[in-house]
Amino acid sequence: MLYTPYMPTYQELARDSGLERPDIHALFHHLGGYNRAFLITHGDEMAEPAFAEHFTRLAARRRAGEPVAYLLGEKEFYSLTFNVGPGVLIPRPDTELLVDLALERLPQGGALVDLGTGSGIIAITIAHERPDAVVTALDISDAALDIARGNAARLAPQVRVLQSDWYAALGDGQFAVIVSNPPYIEQDDPHLEKGDLRFEPRSALTDEADGLAHIRTIIDGARTRLLPGGWLLFEHGFDQGLASRDLLDAAGFGAVQTWQDIAGMDRVSGGLAPA
Ligand code: GLN
Repeated sequence: MLYTPYMPTYQELARDSGLERPDIHALFHHLGGYNRAFLITHGDEMAEPAFAEHFTRLAARRRAGEPVAYLLGEKEFYSLTFNVGPGVLIPRPDTELLVDLALERLPQGGALVDLGTGSGIIAITIAHERPDAVVTALDISDAALDIARGNAARLAPQVRVLQSDWYAALGDGQFAVIVSNPPYIEQDDPHLEKGDLRFEPRSALTDEADGLAHIRTIIDGARTRLLPGGWLLFEHGFDQGLASRDLLDAAGFGAVQTWQDIAGMDRVSGGLAPA
């Protein structure tokens, strides 16, 4: 007897994948350019074999926990599409707060540096919104630099992307705004073993210490690298607002403040350059 390959319809492919609706829609759009109505209008048609094969393969990886953003190779942030991969943190909507705060404080033609840029979302979004700004993006990771350079080339080619261990590669230039979304999760936080975080680079998530180690480095270096009236702004965990403000106060920053993200959680702290 001849082997007859199973030829599922689109609807059957979707149902048998065991994935949630948003994931199914994302994969259908990514692999076939199909919109959300496609399953209603074409669901009972036999699935195109190459599509079925790709979809089945990615669905299995998704069931094993891989983040959708890594399967698609891209993630939207601030209405821009960024390439991402397992070498960088996946952009979170919480980080849009940091971008907004930096944009509000960056003077015309001002210089801004983003420490630990990852895929480049903060630096590139700011440069894309503000072509007048002089934007530098730093990261220590080769994988991150590759991805950030690709994103910059597409979205804001004027961004300077450099390899640096925090401030190490910077000369003695000063900045109007210093921003960072550093690894701020405590080393033994159980969230590191859950969900998307299991697949993200550990070095982008945790300092392998109390969560504040890199924040201390960033605050310390900003003291001499901000122009008068310049701002340091950094992202942190929902429970790190008070500790962040204490560190900023102790380092002599002014107008020290914490801002809440769209979920109402403490997410960004910052202050004015010490006089
Ligand atoms: N916001 C991320 C999370 O808690 C962590 C990102 C970071 O450490 N910078 O999932």
